Amino acid sequence: MGDRPLHTHPNVGGLHDLVEVRLRRVDQRYTGGRRAMIDLLVTLGHPVSISEIAVHLPEVPRSSAYRHLVDLQGAGVVRRIAAKDEFARFELAEDLTEHHHHLLCTTCGRVIDVTPTPAFERTVAKMVQELAAQEDFHPTSHALDVIGHCARCK
Ligand SMILES: [Zn+2]
Ligand SMILES: [Zn+2]
Repeated sequence: MGDRPLHTHPNVGGLHDLVEVRLRRVDQRYTGGRRAMIDLLVTLGHPVSISEIAVHLPEVPRSSAYRHLVDLQGAGVVRRIAAKDEFARFELAEDLTEHHHHLLCTTCGRVIDVTPTPAFERTVAKMVQELAAQEDFHPTSHALDVIGHCARCK
């Protein structure tokens, strides 16, 4: 893991502007509730579950929190990560943060962010090219999540 949380954003004001633009593109407004959701993702700096959101934003009902996340996902601002449905976690879209991978624990639901080394990325890029070439497909990015058991659960 890196020395700073992956999902922090260097310029939060700029991030809010970007989120607003993306929501407008899908005819949605950047409401106070949605803004609170984005602020929380930035502050916590790791993929969050609905229960974690409930702890930090007790004034927001779970159903609204979920609704906001679905809307933000639709606007391409938030990404959902899950090894199993009951373990869904949400984070800022990768193009708003930085490229990374996840380790997903199917026992406790933890999602661990991992930053790949340049050598790892070169290897993955080569393998992705090879896979895509089979279908004459042009890859522009990749997502790689590893599923298994974390150190506490194994
Ligand atoms: Zn675990
Ligand atoms: Zn990668």
